[in-house]
Amino acid sequence: MIEAVDVVKVYRRGKTEVRALNGVSLSVPRGQFLSIRGSSGSGKSTMLNLLGALDVPTSGTLRIEGKEISRFPDDELSQFRRDRLGFIFQFFNLLPTLTALENVILPELLSGKHRDALEPKAKLLLEQFGLKGRGDHRPDELSGGEMQRVAVARALLSEPALLLADEPTGNLDSKTGTEVLRLIREATRERQLTVVMVTHDPKAAEVGDRLVRLQDGNRAGDDLLRAAA
Ligand code: ADP
Ligand code: MG
Repeated sequence: MIEAVDVVKVYRRGKTEVRALNGVSLSVPRGQFLSIRGSSGSGKSTMLNLLGALDVPTSGTLRIEGKEISRFPDDELSQFRRDRLGFIFQFFNLLPTLTALENVILPELLSGKHRDALEPKAKLLLEQFGLKGRGDHRPDELSGGEMQRVAVARALLSEPALLLADEPTGNLDSKTGTEVLRLIREATRERQLTVVMVTHDPKAAEVGDRLVRLQDGNRAGDDLLRAAA
């Protein structure tokens, strides 16, 4: 599903250079739930942004589903992102003026799908995620755990092949975080999704089938935690 070969990312700001990734190679089979763990500044978000086609590597190659996204032009990248990828973020990234249901369907609306076709599917997802009757609530009427579950529904509505999660429990207490992880785990297993989740939290990282550690932009460890389902 993912083939990263010798991926380097250097950020330049004026005269300073930050080498965020130092030649990372990584191969992730379809259906695997990969956790990437590392301390703050180790390059986790950089790696995830590259996998999510939100940024391009300085050098190295990145293939997803056999497509070399590191060579895609911008318009193909955004199309690929919309069709094949789902994202979950630490701060949920819900739009405050929209209801939960509207937040869930927004990305698909923007890619030209019809509201009438999206709403029943979105409602079903919210219901499956324990948010029945919450579809017309706005984010400020929801708890952190509920907001993240809305974000998971939004990420899954387009039926992506790859789910990318950046510190999905970073803004949740530990009990709620564990619940959200279980939800992500179950929902992605059912759909046979490939998942890459980055986190600084050792306990959260354990949810994965496999754990890769990042240290100062280098891959520092790679452990199989359980056989993929
Ligand atoms: P993590 O997510 O593991 O905390 P990041 O991938 O965000 O780490 O950052 C890795 C390194 O790259 C850090 O030293 C960070 O300061 C630097 N960095 C990240 N994004 C940028 C950017 N847009 N411009 C300059 N430096 C950056
Ligand atoms: Mg980060």
